[in-house]
Amino acid sequence: MPHYDGRPHVLILGGNFAGLACAQKVRQYVGDRARITVIDRKSYLLFIPNIPADVFEDRNPALHQRMDLVPILAKDDIDFIHGEVTAVDIAARNVTFRPAERGGAEDHVEHYDYVIFALGARLAYDRIEGFAEHGHTVSDLYHGEKLRRYLNTRYAGGPIAIGSARFHQGDGADGLEPYPGGSIPRALAACEGPPVEVMMSMATWLKDRKLGGPENVTVFTPAPMIAEDAGEDVVKQLLTLATKMGFNYWNNTQDVTRLTADAIEFADGRTLPAEVKIIFPDWVAHDFVKGLPVSDSEGFIKTDLLMRNPDHPEVFACGDCAAVTVPKLGAIGHQQSDIIGLQLGKIFGTVDAEKADVPLKPEVLCIGDMGDRKAFWLHSNSWFGGDRQILKMGRVPYFLKMRYRDMFFAADGKVPAWGLDAAELIAEGL
Ligand SMILES: Cc1cc2nc3c(=O)[nH]c(=O)nc-3n(C[C@H](O)[C@H](O)[C@H](O)COP(=O)(O)OP(=O)(O)OC[C@H]3O[C@@H](n4cnc5c(N)ncnc54)[C@H](O)[C@@H]3O)c2cc1C
Repeated sequence: MPHYDGRPHVLILGGNFAGLACAQKVRQYVGDRARITVIDRKSYLLFIPNIPADVFEDRNPALHQRMDLVPILAKDDIDFIHGEVTAVDIAARNVTFRPAERGGAEDHVEHYDYVIFALGARLAYDRIEGFAEHGHTVSDLYHGEKLRRYLNTRYAGGPIAIGSARFHQGDGADGLEPYPGGSIPRALAACEGPPVEVMMSMATWLKDRKLGGPENVTVFTPAPMIAEDAGEDVVKQLLTLATKMGFNYWNNTQDVTRLTADAIEFADGRTLPAEVKIIFPDWVAHDFVKGLPVSDSEGFIKTDLLMRNPDHPEVFACGDCAAVTVPKLGAIGHQQSDIIGLQLGKIFGTVDAEKADVPLKPEVLCIGDMGDRKAFWLHSNSWFGGDRQILKMGRVPYFLKMRYRDMFFAADGKVPAWGLDAAELIAEGL
C-alpha cells in the first residue's frame, strides 16, 4: 500500500501507454523527490496496436499483448493501486477509487499534490444499436478473439465493412497553435489508422484462404476523407492504391446509426450490406470526468501544449483523455509523457526551464499491418500545420511494428529515444 513519507505525491490516473510512460518519465526527471502512484482498474498494460495482427495471423491476442504492470512499476519505486477511479475533487485535490480485484469493495480517497489524467477514453460501442449482436472490432482482447473465432469458424463469405462512427471532439484544444499558423483541427473520426490497417489485413486474409480479396471489403468514414489527420497527400496515395487493388470506399457517412444482421445503416441515410461489420466507435470521455473544472465541452481534459491545465496548474493530462490528443494515437501520448516528466522536473527543481518548456508538436506516427507480413509506415504533421507527410510500405515497416512491441516489452515500456530514431531512419530511409 502507498506509504506516506512527506514527499509531494504525484498521482497518475490510468496505467496503459500514457500512464506508464508518465510514471516512468516523472521518476526519470524528478528522481526520488516525489512519491509516485499509478491507479488502474487492470494490473497489466494492454498492447492495443498489435491486436489486429494477432487476429489476422490466427493467434489469441490475450496470450501476447499483455504486460504485467506491478513489477515494472516497482522497479522504479512507483506504487500501484489496482482500483477503479470513480471521482476527482479538483478543489480538494482528492481522488476517490474503489479496489477493483473483487466486487463489493468500499471507496477510498487518495490525496495528491499533482495529478496526471491518463485514463484514455470510453470506446462507446454501447451507443451503437445492434453492435452487441452484429458488430465486431479489434480494440481489446475480448473483441479481437471474438472476431478471430468468427472468421475461422463462421464466416460465410459475405461482404465485409470496416470503418468508424462519428467522433465528438470537444472545444478543449481550440486556439492552440502547435506549429506556426497551425492548429489542433476538429476531427470527425477519433483514430482512422486502425480501419485502414484492418481493411488491408482483411483483404490478405481473404486472399490467403481463397475467399476473395479487396473487392469484398468496403471501408467507410464519417468524414469527407478517411484518416484526414494523416495529411492529404499521404491519404491520396493510400486511396489511389486501395482503389487500384479493388477496395470499395464510402466517405461522408456522417455516423453509424444501426447494425443489423446483414447491413450497416448510416446517418446520411445510406445502408451498406455486410456480413462482417468491424467498427471503431466514438471515443468518449469517462462519465465522472465530464463537468470537472478541468474538462472541455465533451469531458476531455483541457491543457496547454505543455500538457498542463491553464486554470489548475497541478493538473496534467496525457494520451487519449487529453483534449489536445487528436487523433487518439498512442504515439502522441508518448510525446506528451516526456513533456510532463520535464514539467514536473522543472517544478521539483531537477530540470531547467529552458529544457522543460518545449511545447508539444504533435506528429501522427502509425505503423499499420497489411497482412502477408507487410505494413505501412505513416509519419506526418501536416494536419497540425507542419510540413511532413511520409508514407512507406513493405516488409520493413512490418518488421518494425513487431520488433517495436518486443522492444517495448523487453525494456519494460522504456523504449529508448534511439530506438524510435532508428526506426524512423530505417523506415524513412528506404
Ligand atoms: C486497433 C487499434 C490499433 C491502434 N494502433 C495504433 C498505432 O499503431 N499507433 C498509435 O500510436 N496508436 C494506435 N492506436 C491508438 C492507441 O491504442 C491509443 O491511442 C492508446 O492506447 C492511448 O493510450 P492511453 O494510455 O491514453 O489510453 P488507454 O490505452 O485507453 O489506457 C487508459 C487506461 O486507463 C485505465 N482506466 C480507464 N478508466 C479508469 C478508471 N475509471 N479507473 C481506473 N483505471 C481506468 C484503463 O484500464 C487503461 O489502462 C490504436 C488503437 C486501436 C484501437
